[in-house]
Amino acid sequence: MADEKPVVESFQLDHTKVKAPYVRYIDTQTGPNGDVISNYDLRLVQPNENAIPTGGLHTIEHTIAVLLRGFHLLTWGEHSTQDVAKALKEALEFIAYEATWDDVPATTIESCGNYRDHSLFTAKEWAKDILAKGISSDPFERKVV
Ligand code: ZN
Repeated sequence: MADEKPVVESFQLDHTKVKAPYVRYIDTQTGPNGDVISNYDLRLVQPNENAIPTGGLHTIEHTIAVLLRGFHLLTWGEHSTQDVAKALKEALEFIAYEATWDDVPATTIESCGNYRDHSLFTAKEWAKDILAKGISSDPFERKVV
């Protein structure tokens, strides 16, 4: 039991080989009632080259949470990575060009565990930068949607 370590799927990925921003299909699982759930990795920034500061990333995360439900996307049924990448692109376009502070949910002390650490300005600047690079439907080959 002690030497049974859980396998974390993304730790198996060679982060030097990927070309972000991208959507990567991880897997599909079928529940006991036959319901199908698919899991996708939404990577916004090239690993080890850049990092979105927490204020901006936190605000992107909150705003995306109501549009897509986070940075790992679980869906009912199966979708192409092209369709997921298009949905991510639309969510980032919303943040970059339309969102106001009223569109960022759960920014109060009651609803967020780090409510002071938000920056819609940083979220918008990073969303624009990610959109300018284009979101690929493939992690290793640039197939921008
Ligand atoms: Zn929060």
